[in-house]
Order: sequence, then structure tokens, then C-alpha cells
Amino acid sequence: MTDQLSTLKPYIIAADIGTTSTKTLVISRDGKVLGSHSIEYPLFTPAADRAEQDPDQIFDAVVQGIGEVVRKVGVKPEQVLCVSFSSAMHSLIAVDKNTMPLTACITWADNRSAMYAAELKRSGLGQQIYSRTGTPIHPMSPLLKLMWFRDNEPGLMKETYKFIGIKEYVFAKLFDRYVIDHSLASATGLFNLENLDWDAEALGQAGVTPDQLSELVPTTYRVEGLSAAYASAMGLAKDTPFIVGASDGVLANLGVGAFEPGVVAVTIGTSGAVRSVVTKPQTDPEGKLFCYALTEKFWVVGGPINNGGIVFRWVRDQIATAEAEEARRQGIDPYDYLTELASQVKAGSDGLLFLPLLSGERAPYWNANARGVYFGLSLSHEKKHMIRAALEGVMFSIQAVATSLERIMGPAEVIRASGGFARSEFWRQMMTDMLGTSVTVPDSIESSGIGAALLGLLAMGEIDDLAHAHNWIQVGTAHEVNESNYRVYQQLTSIYTSVYHQLKDQFDAITAFQGQHLRSPQS
Ligand code: ADP
Repeated sequence: MTDQLSTLKPYIIAADIGTTSTKTLVISRDGKVLGSHSIEYPLFTPAADRAEQDPDQIFDAVVQGIGEVVRKVGVKPEQVLCVSFSSAMHSLIAVDKNTMPLTACITWADNRSAMYAAELKRSGLGQQIYSRTGTPIHPMSPLLKLMWFRDNEPGLMKETYKFIGIKEYVFAKLFDRYVIDHSLASATGLFNLENLDWDAEALGQAGVTPDQLSELVPTTYRVEGLSAAYASAMGLAKDTPFIVGASDGVLANLGVGAFEPGVVAVTIGTSGAVRSVVTKPQTDPEGKLFCYALTEKFWVVGGPINNGGIVFRWVRDQIATAEAEEARRQGIDPYDYLTELASQVKAGSDGLLFLPLLSGERAPYWNANARGVYFGLSLSHEKKHMIRAALEGVMFSIQAVATSLERIMGPAEVIRASGGFARSEFWRQMMTDMLGTSVTVPDSIESSGIGAALLGLLAMGEIDDLAHAHNWIQVGTAHEVNESNYRVYQQLTSIYTSVYHQLKDQFDAITAFQGQHLRSPQS
């Protein structure tokens, strides 16, 4: 690092474009978060299988968010080394030649292409495409969304100049350049992991040509040349370098310092994920795990779950409502109150199991029709058992994904945990006992933004190696396995798994019933 530059340009700005909000951070060169700002935007669900956003609301949040955090911390334009990006994966927007959106931003949660995913999987071609692209065959994937457009909106396919994701939209508006980093490209289902280029067969299925997609660039690629108006809105110089960066998932691994063999990152926010870094692309013979790029040297293998912290929120809002109300009356966070109640019950909830598959599930089952189940209820079970069983259910899901990961990566030596769930010491210990591995929790919770800032330093040539993360990331609390709880969970795992498999057909039947019922007028 040049000393002169480090005094002249002491700050890195990270912009983390998420599904619920964009978070912007000012980070010092020694990894301290000096200020942050968060701007939320809505997710529109005009039909049960749609989940869309307004690309311009997100673009405005990025510009305004950077401006706000720069002002908050009092950063001068010439003090910024670079702005580096993290972004949610799998989004798709069709734009015309003037970068005017022809569609909404279709998010990972949009399910309109579910039938296409099921069909492609059945055909066997799905597994072949997955094994080259690393993106599981699922309606989240832009490949499947494009197949849906191909058949349902043929006119749009002709009118569209480019099909892009939300971060490409931001860069196109700011710099008039269509660039996609290898990381987000590897989550489109269209990108060949071996030759780092668009996959001809996947593009053929999607019905698009390479010139309808953005230019592929490394995650460390930089772009400069802001207009005076945007530079002033963000409080930056016109020549401030913008680093394209990577996806929020792979950057979270970097931001918790989990990028060495044997270190597994588990995140549980609203949803959740289990991930590990490898040094070359690796896919799963069973097609259950993703493989996404971080840089050309590091790849992230893992699995996402839909039903993470959202399950606890559902328990708080729908089941333990009186208890949550009591907590509020006492001025206690309802989540803390409910975990305290759950802690009064032994591990295994006295034989009550909960399959937390409320919104269908991605890894490891990849079954959109899966639903929640309480199993083993008896008259002796109380509300606190139901709370504990729900918290344990989320951990059974995490454990199932961790087991899939172990199949191809070998056992985890240590787990790095992050996300909202980590606020609870009780829930963290439950994870430790369920996985049978020590769990540590990094001090900072902004893992994707920190990962983006580290990648920014690498892109600017200020560090040689991402191992620099070790100088940045302080590991806080550590949890050790309680062997007797571990044995209880081991015993229950086989019952949990077998309940899921035995109910597979019934999940399809009940989902079909729910579909009909929701459509029919109330009698
Ligand atoms: P997001 O995915 O929006 O970034 P967060 O990472 O903030 O979400 O996680 C939110 C989830 O964290 C909540 O739904 C809840 O399940 C969990 N959570 C938040 N606070 C607590 C707490 N004090 N104890 C246990 N769980 C908590």
C-alpha cells in the first residue's frame, strides 16, 4: 500500500443492494465501519407467483444512500479511494436502447417460471446445464425467467436491447456501460464456470444471444467517469473509481472471514444460507448446491434456504401473539422473550418436531410445494414447546444443507455465523449443538458490505490477497458443542428427514388444494 495514497484517500464506500434495502457504508482502510445508511424499497406481488421491484426506486436508493453516508461521515470527494458493490442475485430487467426498463425488476423470489423449472429438471438437460453453470434449476434463475418470457412475451424478446440484473442497471445509468461481473453472471444459469463465458446451450434454451447480455468482466473491474450531476448527488469526484464487485452471498463469506478450507459460513436473516469457499468451480452431482464466483481464484459452494428468520417472525406474529404482546408491555424485545420461553424446554422439544417449510424450500429439497408441519404434538406440549420446535426446525434445515455441503467438501472445522438470528445466544448455541461443530460470530454484522470493501482494496491494488480479511475481521463470541444435546438432535434428524420424504406427495396435493381454494370466490 502506498502511504501517500492511504493518507490522501482513507475511505472506501460499499454499496450493498439487497432485496429489502440498499445499505451504504463508509469503511476505513483498517476495516472499521465509520458510518452506514439504509434505504428501503417495496417488493410488489401483483400475483401470488410474482415478486417484482421498481428498478428506479433501487437506483435512487443507491445514489441517495451513497450521498447520505458520505455526508454523515463528513467524507470529502477526494478522500474516497473507491466505491465497491455487493448485490442480490438472480434479478432480471429487460431494457431498451436508452436503458428504459421494459419490465419491472423481477427478483429471485418470483415464481412465474416454476413449470419451466420442473420441466427442465425432468428432461435431464437441466442437470447438464446446472453442471456447467453452477446455478440450480429453479424459478429464481434468470435462465428460467427468460424461458418464460420466450414463450409468454415473444414481442418483448424482440423489443429488448439488453436483459440485465439490478446492478448492471445501476452501472448502465451511471456510466452508460453494460457490464456484469463473473459473480452475478454465475448466478444467472447462463454462464459457463469453466471458460468464464456465456454458455451457448443455456442461451439457446433462454432464446437470447450474447449481444443481448452485458459484457462479462472480473469482480475487480473498475469503471470511472461519473457525470457532474451524479458526482455531486453522491458527494464524490467525477473520477472516483467504481468497482463492479460481486454478489451479496459470496461477499458475505469474505466479510465473515470464511474463505479457507474447513471454514463454513452460515447466515440466517429472513432467509438463510450455508456456504464454503473453494479454489476452483465445483458442482454437486445431485444438483442441490450452487457454485458462484467470488474472483477467478475463489468460488463459493453452498445452498440457500427460504425459511430462516422469517419462521421465527411468523411464530411471533401468528402463534405466540399473547407472549409477544406481554414482552412489548414489559419493554422487552419479543424475540428475546420468546427465546427465553423456548430455553425452558429441553433439546428436542420433548418429541415435538417442526418442518419449517412455510414458503416452500430451496436447498436441500428444492421443492416449492413443501409446507410447514408440526409433528408429534401431544396434550403435554405447550406454547413454549411450539416455539422451541420452530427454532429447532430452522436448524434442521440448516443442518440438512450443511450435510449436503459436507458430501462434497468434507467436514466443517468451524462455523462462522451471521445474520439477525445471531442476536440470540440461545439460538446460536442451538446451531452449535445441531451441527456438532464450534460456532464463532464475527463482531460486525455488515458482512456483504465489508466483503465488497475488501474486494475494492484488491481491485485498487492496495492489497495483494483477500487473506487481508484476517486483519479486518474480529471474531467475537465462540460456542462449543453440548454433547448431550448433539446426541438428541442426531436421533431426531432421521425422524425429521423421513417425515419430509413420506409427505412429499401430500405436499403436492395440499399445495394444489391451496391454489384452487385461493382462486375460488368465498362461499
Ligand atoms: P434481513 O434478511 O432483512 O437482513 P436480519 O438479518 O435482520 O434480516 O434478520 C431478521 C431475523 O433475525 C428475524 O426475522 C428474526 O428471526 C431474527 N432475529 C432478530 N432479532 C432476534 C433476536 N433478538 N433473537 C432471535 N432472533 C432474532
